[in-house]
Amino acid sequence: MSRFLLPRLSAVAPYVPGEQPQDLDTYVKINTNECPYPPSPRVLEALDGESARRLNLYPDPTCDELNRALAALYGLKKGQVYVGNGSDEVLAFAFMAFCDEAHGCMFPEISYGFYPVYARLFASPAREVPLNRDFTLPVEPFIGVGRTIFIANPNAPTGIALPLKDIERIVRGNPQNVVVIDEAYIDFGGESARGLIDRYDNLLIVGTFSKSRQLAGGRLGYALANEALIADLNRIKFSFHPYNISRLTLAAAVMAVRDTEYFAACVEKIKKTRARVASALAEMGFEMTDSKANFLFVKPPVGTGEQYYRALKEKKVLVRHFPDPRICDYARVTIGSDGQMDIFLEKTREYLREAGA
Ligand SMILES: *Cc1c(COP(=O)(O)O)cnc(C)c1O
Repeated sequence: MSRFLLPRLSAVAPYVPGEQPQDLDTYVKINTNECPYPPSPRVLEALDGESARRLNLYPDPTCDELNRALAALYGLKKGQVYVGNGSDEVLAFAFMAFCDEAHGCMFPEISYGFYPVYARLFASPAREVPLNRDFTLPVEPFIGVGRTIFIANPNAPTGIALPLKDIERIVRGNPQNVVVIDEAYIDFGGESARGLIDRYDNLLIVGTFSKSRQLAGGRLGYALANEALIADLNRIKFSFHPYNISRLTLAAAVMAVRDTEYFAACVEKIKKTRARVASALAEMGFEMTDSKANFLFVKPPVGTGEQYYRALKEKKVLVRHFPDPRICDYARVTIGSDGQMDIFLEKTREYLREAGA
């Protein structure tokens, strides 16, 4: 840290991303919830042509084609869609737009690790609401709070989904505040709140192409909301970074939306693998939440989450664990390909044997 950094910023503890080893062939990498399958052949084709030849030119700052494609996909108007450089950027812009010293924010104590980081970055007082003992979300504390609310649904890293009627209660219960529903994992289960957009002008849905659309490396996130909220996000984007999505990513993302068959096949595959891995782990004595996401949140029968993580890493399998004492007994395991999960299960059996379970 230099002596020039603003005091406010020196107090921000940055987000710590999951490990991203660059020797990808060394590890079974199931630690950051990416899709194990490559982008569809049609997406790769789209990257080969026009978009690459035109890299000398700036991309479309209005992202018109992609907004249209997403609007068509979700049955919305183009003005109800916004796209950003990863949903992290969309979330950051939402904090920038709706949270500051005078406008607090609120989110569950155990949720996506970026929310408290953004709260600090934008100097917004944060209220963190404890989850129930079983990691479900209590609705009552989120009613009438006078703060901007951020809820991941399904939640991370627990994978637990909040029923749509509870989401609606929270949105309806805070008419003077924006309620952001982060649907990063919605394609793997749970009910989207998309259908509520026309009824509630304070609902902002955020999504990503990183988890279910094979584009984590392309960086593409989106927001769905009424036109006024979308205009707020555009106001920030055009005051900050108008060319925030590269030509290559725009081309890839448009095709990823259009290739609905490939998308559906990948999601189905992940859900099937998730069920298989969950029952294999349950048989070994693991406890786990009812995850609707592309990961399992599991408690090994012996050892802490960190011990399990370390043992698996030795065996060249990367999962994620969390230092927070409330969840330190758990590990989060991304659902990879069947081949990857077979290795994971085999190494897990080894771990249990070695731990004397
Ligand atoms: C992965 C994730 C994101 C970030 O996704 P990007 O689009 O890759 O920035 C946001 N929210 C939640 C809950 C996530 O799990």
